[in-house]
Amino acid sequence: MMIYNKKVLRVVASAFLVFSFASAGGVDSDSSAGRTSRRLKNSKGTKAEKELCVIGGGAAGAYTAYEAQKRGYDTVLIEPQDNLGGNCEVVKVPSTIDPSVTYLVNAAVVIYSPTETVRSFFDEMGVSAVNAYTTPRNTFVYGTPYGVFKAPPSDPAKQFLALEAYTNIANSAPYAGAFTPLPNFENLSEDDSQLLFEPFGQFLARNPVIAPIAPLMASIVQGYGLATDLPMWEIFLGVPPKFILQIFTGTWLSIPDGCQGMYDTLKDRMINKDPSSVKLNTKVDHIVRKKNGGVRVKINTKSSKGSYNCDDAVIAFRPDGLSGQTLKGITEKEEDFFGDLSYNGYMPSVFKMDLGPSLTAVGADSSTQMYFVNASFIDVGILTIEKSQPETDSPWKIFYQPAEPADTPAKVEAAKELIIAELTSIGFINIECIFIKNHKYNVRPNSEQGVKDWVAFFEERNSNDNDNLYWTGALVAGDASEYVWEHAKRVLDESFPDKS
Ligand SMILES: Cc1cc2nc3c(=O)[nH]c(=O)nc-3n(C[C@H](O)[C@H](O)[C@H](O)COP(=O)(O)OP(=O)(O)OC[C@H]3O[C@@H](n4cnc5c(N)ncnc54)[C@H](O)[C@@H]3O)c2cc1C
Repeated sequence: MMIYNKKVLRVVASAFLVFSFASAGGVDSDSSAGRTSRRLKNSKGTKAEKELCVIGGGAAGAYTAYEAQKRGYDTVLIEPQDNLGGNCEVVKVPSTIDPSVTYLVNAAVVIYSPTETVRSFFDEMGVSAVNAYTTPRNTFVYGTPYGVFKAPPSDPAKQFLALEAYTNIANSAPYAGAFTPLPNFENLSEDDSQLLFEPFGQFLARNPVIAPIAPLMASIVQGYGLATDLPMWEIFLGVPPKFILQIFTGTWLSIPDGCQGMYDTLKDRMINKDPSSVKLNTKVDHIVRKKNGGVRVKINTKSSKGSYNCDDAVIAFRPDGLSGQTLKGITEKEEDFFGDLSYNGYMPSVFKMDLGPSLTAVGADSSTQMYFVNASFIDVGILTIEKSQPETDSPWKIFYQPAEPADTPAKVEAAKELIIAELTSIGFINIECIFIKNHKYNVRPNSEQGVKDWVAFFEERNSNDNDNLYWTGALVAGDASEYVWEHAKRVLDESFPDKS
């Protein structure tokens, strides 16, 4: 984007205007000095002017609004929930063993990419981040194979199951049948079981297609070099190798004490500077590109409706709901684009439950820190089950992917029943659901080409100097925090430079 765009000119102009405007009164009046905007409030609700409206208070929106305010922009952050953070939400769960103990469970987002932007943002918020998954975790696999693995399986029956999973990996993209020899299941030999001990790097090198690009993969995929020595018995579990590489090398960050504190700090700081800069419990219903520039953002609280006239606005939520009705002045290209989005519900759920006899029989006990995996080979159902603390009654976090969007209370209830049925069939007992929430997680373009076009689309929109509407935030599932923060920062750096 060209740096001499109109936003930069506006920054220069506003430096002259700062002292010539006084903010008008009203309930929403702006107490901070040096702002160019006016606030008005009437019986119909908020009607205010802001330099920047940020729509959506998840990681991306909260970061964008906070940074923009710091850079001197009169900003409002609008969020329908009663707290910030979006998918980075924390659930407080009291222990049933010790009432003085409360577990803080990161309900959805658990791990963060350790980029400079992420690290310095965490520092600024006073959050201590640690390397994720540094302690080895015993892995429990349900379905096939099945069991608790603390070491390479020695029991031939378990080896058989492990080898079966190994073959599944070897036969799935991008490896697709390129590996030989593969175990002969009719007649398993000693040599077959040795495949479980083969280092991952060697496994890859046996694929003639992958071998030549292994050094390139090493430079692209974080931690690849270290993971090459991992034995296949650790890799066979069915987790996509890219995740394995990062998980086992501990290169992701986590916030063990829960990330909600970070968003509370951010909110308090924004409100301290300007009480009108955070609007919770407020949904944006319509976004209107105004003919003469600027954006009108129509809001809806439980008790009133209103609007903000903004010089610029940032959409910081997945725009699958946008249509000509919600985004007035939507372009044909945008309409096509949003029409191509498909939805795949992802339901983070927190449960309390006990291990039933079939689980204890395969080696699970209350002190086992377990990670349940049955990813890759299923489309619908429980994806992962984690128990983050070893205490007996610590809650289990479950990621469940419903076949249909669970976007009504009745559908959420039905999904809960399915999760409980699946947990029961795995072998859990005394199951109690303490939190369940649907997230529009896997919203992505329908076509492969659409996925490729996705980022380019946003970048093109964001660099259009004739448009005052920007886009940021997670674009597709698995985006991870890296894109969320880096992309938000780029939008800020390119279009909202520091005014001071
Ligand atoms: C179960 C689950 C687990 C995940 N795990 C990880 C992980 O471990 N690591 C990782 O990096 N990423 C993970 N992700 C991806 C995660 O979504 C992103 O990393 C990040 O949280 C996205 O931030 P965001 O601000 O773009 O979007 P969100 O967090 O989705 O925030 C969007 C916000 O916009 C608000 N909003 C929606 N509609 C409107 C409207 N009309 N008006 C105003 N506001 C609106 C929402 O209420 C929400 O607060 C996970 C996602 C899910 C669902």
